[in-house]
Amino acid sequence: MAIYKSINPYNQELIGEFPEDLSTELEAKIAAAHSLSPLEDHYSFPIRRKAVQNLAGLLRERKTELAVHICDEMGKVLKEAEAEVEKCAWLCDYYYEKSPEFLADQKLDLGDAQAIRRYEALGVILGIMPWNFPLWQVFRFAVPAILAGNRVLLKHAPNCNLSADDLQSIFDDAGLPVAAYSAVRLSNETVAELLTDARIKGVSLTGSEKAGRTVAEIAGRELKPQVLELGGSNAFILHSSAKVKAAAQLASSALLLNAGQSCIAAKRFLVHESLYTEFIQELKAVFSNYSIGDPKASSTSIGPLARPDLKANALRQIEESLAQGAKLELGGKGDGNLLEPTILSGVNPDMTVFKEEVFAPIASIMSYADFEEAIAISNSSRYGLGVSLIGEDRDFMLSQASRFEEGAVFINDLVKSDPRLPFGGVKNSGYGRELGPEGIHSFCNLKTIYLK
Ligand code: NAP
Repeated sequence: MAIYKSINPYNQELIGEFPEDLSTELEAKIAAAHSLSPLEDHYSFPIRRKAVQNLAGLLRERKTELAVHICDEMGKVLKEAEAEVEKCAWLCDYYYEKSPEFLADQKLDLGDAQAIRRYEALGVILGIMPWNFPLWQVFRFAVPAILAGNRVLLKHAPNCNLSADDLQSIFDDAGLPVAAYSAVRLSNETVAELLTDARIKGVSLTGSEKAGRTVAEIAGRELKPQVLELGGSNAFILHSSAKVKAAAQLASSALLLNAGQSCIAAKRFLVHESLYTEFIQELKAVFSNYSIGDPKASSTSIGPLARPDLKANALRQIEESLAQGAKLELGGKGDGNLLEPTILSGVNPDMTVFKEEVFAPIASIMSYADFEEAIAISNSSRYGLGVSLIGEDRDFMLSQASRFEEGAVFINDLVKSDPRLPFGGVKNSGYGRELGPEGIHSFCNLKTIYLK
């Protein structure tokens, strides 16, 4: 039986060891989740909705403890971890308020007959989640899925065991039947078997492109619906009308949140040639104000990368790109799993930092001559999660939004997830949508009822 270890990425201390689920434990969880029905009183919509309201309260009550566990296990700066908990509570508030509307029957008068469009749960849905936002990724999948009447089996990342246990406690304490939400600790081989189990009706995976391909292949063979939230390499484009100082501030927030370990972080900075030199200088000045270190210290703005292999990979991407002709403007080093905010200029689409997903505080800067070129460079990425367009000429940028092959175009702001807005990607960033009304419908059977 495998043992999962949580190791503090800042000081390498062992936090705890957590055994994989026994096959008998797993079977009991699947069977209980399968037999729990939204048609039963104790799992009715009012009960589920009330539980979501309770979840919001519990998150706010337990904010510090939850945030400390995030900080200890994956190195997020404490204040960002607290903000993550608050955002989960906001999501609960949003779906508590809006779910009656999103899940209501819609009646249609057809003249010679009546019809009803009804959203019904699919059943037990497997969630496979990453470590970078250990609570947020789970909440944005599990809350709408449960509100719709589904039951959730949740396989978390193997380095987020405290958060996985916190999530189980919080869902249990919110007043849901135990089988509504079950944390499972499983190998990927067991996940592959689970996906062929007839009682599992769908899968939601947030993670790398590689994981997405593997899971989608099996789920596709089994004809099971999937939501895949995969990697990203967002461009952040400074139009010639941009104000450089403000753009550099925004650019740093767009990249450096969570030490750059975000799918929607801005990674490729495409700057109009007239602003290129000034932008690099401004970005260097802003980045120099960030301090790396202990994620629990109030003076720290960037914590460690979550695992040693992630740091090694980031250094490899920097080294290869330098060998390919990029110029190191700032950073590129750090003790342990820390990495100073790093700026590479003169990047081009053939370089490693452009071609691969970067998951670290590394800004790759390149210049363009006209906006057509910027669109072409932006779209040449294998990913399509989001893009930021920055400039004073709002009308022009709005007129260009449809030309970007992206799940989201944010004009004059960083790309962010918001409970009220659909979230997801195109191309190798995956498919399906979370959040907004779409998020609650992702794992529903939209049933047509016809009455004559
Ligand atoms: P990861 O290595 O793909 O892992 C994500 C989850 O998938 C983990 O629970 C992992 O478990 C599991 N997994 C990996 N291979 C699997 C397989 N063959 N079968 C079943 N499960 C499998 O990704 P990560 O390093 O944790 O997270 C970073 C990635 O997530 C980045 O690519 C980032 O862009 C992406 N991400 C995307 C979004 C979005 O909304 N689009 C949000 C956040 C993160 P094991 O570790 O046990 O393999």
